[in-house]
Amino acid sequence: MSAESSSTPLQTVHPISFLIIGGGIAGLACALALRRVGHHALVLERHDMKSARGDSGIRLPPNLTKILFHWGLRSALKEKALISHTILFATYESGDYLGSQVWSQDVLKETRGVFMVLKHAELYDILYEAATRAGAQIRHNAEVVEIDASEREVTLASGETVSGDVLVGADGEYGPSRAVVIGKQVRGSPTGLAMYDTLVPGKYVPPHLFKLREQNGVYVAFGDGRAILAYPVGNKEEIAFQFYGPDDGGDGKFGDAPSMPVIDIASKVDPRLQPIVKNARKATRITIRDHNDLEDWVEDDGRLVLIGEAAHPFPPGTIQATAMAVEDGAVLAKLFSHLSEERQIESFLYAFQELRQPRTRSVRASEFGNAFFMAMPACEQSRQRDEGMRMLGEKGLNVLEGGDGEASGAWDEIRTVFGYDCEDEADDWWVQWGLLRERALGRQADGEEDEDGDPAAASSAFDFSAFTVQVSEIATEAVSEHDYDE
Ligand SMILES: Cc1cc2nc3c(=O)[nH]c(=O)nc-3n(C[C@H](O)[C@H](O)[C@H](O)COP(=O)(O)OP(=O)(O)OC[C@H]3O[C@@H](n4cnc5c(N)ncnc54)[C@H](O)[C@@H]3O)c2cc1C
Repeated sequence: MSAESSSTPLQTVHPISFLIIGGGIAGLACALALRRVGHHALVLERHDMKSARGDSGIRLPPNLTKILFHWGLRSALKEKALISHTILFATYESGDYLGSQVWSQDVLKETRGVFMVLKHAELYDILYEAATRAGAQIRHNAEVVEIDASEREVTLASGETVSGDVLVGADGEYGPSRAVVIGKQVRGSPTGLAMYDTLVPGKYVPPHLFKLREQNGVYVAFGDGRAILAYPVGNKEEIAFQFYGPDDGGDGKFGDAPSMPVIDIASKVDPRLQPIVKNARKATRITIRDHNDLEDWVEDDGRLVLIGEAAHPFPPGTIQATAMAVEDGAVLAKLFSHLSEERQIESFLYAFQELRQPRTRSVRASEFGNAFFMAMPACEQSRQRDEGMRMLGEKGLNVLEGGDGEASGAWDEIRTVFGYDCEDEADDWWVQWGLLRERALGRQADGEEDEDGDPAAASSAFDFSAFTVQVSEIATEAVSEHDYDE
């Protein structure tokens, strides 16, 4: 049985106002999560409602769906999203079957979520409606042009200024918040790979993939420096078609006008997929950039925090990009549900950073690996990849599990990535560290002294920002701002 509840979570006894810059998935999810625990949330989004919504596919892994179920959005999701259990792997040029992965009920039970696919716009609408219903204010056509973190204030393109107790930078890879926290504008380095994102009418699904579409399956094809991800969306009437291939050197991002004819970029594909390629709408080109991990997600003045793509840009189209953005909002809200005094704000923001950095670093590194694994240029390693899958596929085994059941890499992934419950982790932090600090401060307020008789030392020795929260993932090493030369 999947995790589902919409019970009222712990409410803050000290409501404050959060000013969220950027109304994408991270901004909306964060606003909803904060409202659920009793804080005020105002979202400022530069686009109008229509352009802020993407008209292509998005995949939701179990670690994300379980949060949305906790928030009471299960039935809203079920109306729009398809539950997917199967991934089918094939070669790009010939379409030869390599193998498949079927997530069994037992495996999913462990994660307390499900895999779902839907359109970005559909997820956007679900979160938008839930956040407004919960009392969040969401303003479109409100572009932030300046951020003054010390004054906790932003200036809009219209000249209007808006302030809040805490500023949340949810404005993505290219928004202004990231530059404010880093101290300068950085763009990330192009990797030579781009994703071309579009939709195709469902009627062009070739006969050999009818069954896969019926199962809401995801089709993955590996080529020479190219790859395809395709899955049904929009009540199976459309196919999300995401093509990874050489970047032609332009600069593109989600939300740009579709400009690339798919026939030009996917010409050497399996002839059976030609109807899809010929009838796809023009694709949006999204440059895949590599970014160094940020050392700090909290601005020096302690009142601007980054979440989602602004904190950790993911390769486009990867399954965990959206999940990490929603997890960020969920964790921030869980921590701030314990807010009882103004003085706790800064330490909660640093706790958020300490909790989220190890998780997002390891997941992002693995998603980068996956994108390049799929679109690996032809070489000995790609031959081994295909052969390995083919061998398992011929035996009827799940190709991602390596045939070893519980001992396999897939099980590790299920436990550490899909099985992770970010809200539980935030609760654990409070029990292990937050309460401890409150008790230490309480004792100090009651006149308890440190062993040298200095009450102030007892509190300063308790440096929150120095904590390393224990989570199961291995953190990749952070670089400092000085190492930034992207
Ligand atoms: C229009 C759009 C369509 C997308 N479509 C897909 C898709 O089909 N499939 C998929 O897998 N992923 C898609 N994505 C990416 C996906 O949303 C992200 O990978 C992930 O969910 C994390 O989102 P985020 O909210 O952190 O960042 P983003 O999705 O980048 O959202 C950031 C938001 O901040 C806003 N913003 C930026 N600068 C400012 C400013 N100065 N003032 C106010 N607001 C600002 C942006 O307009 C945007 O709405 C899309 C993103 C966008 C913006």
